[in-house]
Amino acid sequence: MAVSPDQTLITTLKKQHLVQFYESEGSLLNAMSAFIGGGLKAGETCIVLATREHHEGLLERLKEIGLDRSAVPAQEQYIWLDATEVMSKLMVAGMPEPGRFAEIVGSVIAQAVQRQPHVRVFGEIVALLWTEGNQAAAIRLEELWNDLHNQFPVFSLFCAYPLHSFDEQTTAREFLEICQQHSHIIPSDNYGLHASLDEQLQSISQLQQQASLFEAELAQRKEVERLLRISEEDHFRLAAIVESSDDAIVSKTLDGIITSWNGAAERLFGYSAEEATGKHITLIIPPELRYEEEEIIAKLRQGIRIQHYETVRMRKDGKRIEVSLSISPVRDRSGKIIGASKIARDISERRELERRKDEFISMASHELKTPVTALKGFTQLLQRRFKSRSDEETLRFLARMESQIDKMTTLICDMLDLSRMQTGQLEYRMDLFDLAPLVQEIVENVQGTTQTHRIILEKTTATQVYGDRDRIGQVLINLLTNAIKYSRDADRIIVRMATHEGNALVSVQDFGIGISEAYQEKIFDQFYQVTEPAEKTYPGLGIGLYISRTIMERHQGQLRVQSRKGAGSTFTFQLPLALHWRT
Ligand code: ADP
Repeated sequence: MAVSPDQTLITTLKKQHLVQFYESEGSLLNAMSAFIGGGLKAGETCIVLATREHHEGLLERLKEIGLDRSAVPAQEQYIWLDATEVMSKLMVAGMPEPGRFAEIVGSVIAQAVQRQPHVRVFGEIVALLWTEGNQAAAIRLEELWNDLHNQFPVFSLFCAYPLHSFDEQTTAREFLEICQQHSHIIPSDNYGLHASLDEQLQSISQLQQQASLFEAELAQRKEVERLLRISEEDHFRLAAIVESSDDAIVSKTLDGIITSWNGAAERLFGYSAEEATGKHITLIIPPELRYEEEEIIAKLRQGIRIQHYETVRMRKDGKRIEVSLSISPVRDRSGKIIGASKIARDISERRELERRKDEFISMASHELKTPVTALKGFTQLLQRRFKSRSDEETLRFLARMESQIDKMTTLICDMLDLSRMQTGQLEYRMDLFDLAPLVQEIVENVQGTTQTHRIILEKTTATQVYGDRDRIGQVLINLLTNAIKYSRDADRIIVRMATHEGNALVSVQDFGIGISEAYQEKIFDQFYQVTEPAEKTYPGLGIGLYISRTIMERHQGQLRVQSRKGAGSTFTFQLPLALHWRT
């Protein structure tokens, strides 16, 4: 059913607080004349709070539809209040003052409502304030109108805003606030007040949908703002920690481009943050170590963290510094790896101390070796003398002295070997030789030092290997002396030789205290000794197995243990047969 616009307003939008956003003066006057004209025709009181210009324009339009003022039965039926004048009276310090609003506007409406229950009000002071740029005052005035509307819910109020006053700077929030002050939004000129009821309703529902979308967007925006605020606080907290760290903290992309550089990085590498950011990380990697970067990136791409990686980096002045690096992948919100954060700790000082300590150990063991060798020589001399005199007691004492000197010599040699290994100075005299006679010889020698254990060598076969005969012998001596040391209550040790898949295998089995599984790898670390009560009483430095394994690895071989706590241990070393040696 087609319904004329004025009837539409009367029938559908009665007692509402309406708003229209208009594009041209013409469309505003159309809307005003439809709203006011409709009211006059229905015998309602109409109050027009408009500028003089709009009031006069409205009268023209009303005349066109046969409603000049003479046709209005009672003069009180059409009341014009000059919007500009009223506005200036309402305002105190840039805001509408509620008391004045009640006095100037409220009182006119109250009187009209008393006379006639149906009242229409057109008001454009809000639009004047909005156009002036005083959005806060416009919104406040809309609130005052709403309060008044709640007080006298019989009148319809129609506000109109020129669309051009909503420029690009008007935020969705302000626009939404205006919409929220009104119960209905009348579509702008495209539909206008001359559109059919169906079209108007459809358009209104579209606008309401838009308004609820706006509302949802606003809520979402508020949530994003809240999260941003939290993440901004986190960001500042983290930034403060990073900045005050004594370790250099640097971040980079997966292409190696530096993205952040803290104060400690400036001090450590000598480049300022401005100088370093945006450059490639090779800025601080010495040319001969550039391959490291590729390896690091490859690991990071797989999400692997790198911890305490000790290496060398380069300062701006070209000086090399020793650093320990811990590098972690940086992921984006979706978990994708987008870069890396790197913590670099200067370990030059620690390394220097370690070097001095190693030097000291190396020097001290070297210096100790000479007097101990002299002691051994004199002991053997004395032994010869007392043998000829058949002084059995002295000979017994001398034998004990000699065995203690041997222990001391082993300790000193181990210390020397360790420091040489650490500095890469341990030399290997590589040769082809048969392992069987060496094993036989060592078993016999070690047997000569013990009366408590019988060392049983199961069959031997000729086995050609390539290596340093003395060093390999040293490994076997170490395994045998450990086997004796850690099996006080047993009386035998079994040595076996075999070949398997191109390797020579030599194993030493004891029936002693054994080793719990938890320690079976650790015992090959430097200075590691099992510290359970059962092991506490055994002397040693905890370096024999470390040296033995290192020697085996240098021979393309291995050293392993099989053991059970309380059930003895079997240490096995494996060497490639000479034919299988990889050059
Ligand atoms: P050391 O014997 O001087 O302490 P090693 O490096 O030779 O140093 O051995 C490291 C540790 O391994 C020993 O302290 C001991 O706890 C354990 N261990 C080595 N050999 C045996 C063994 N045959 N039986 C039981 N424990 C052993």
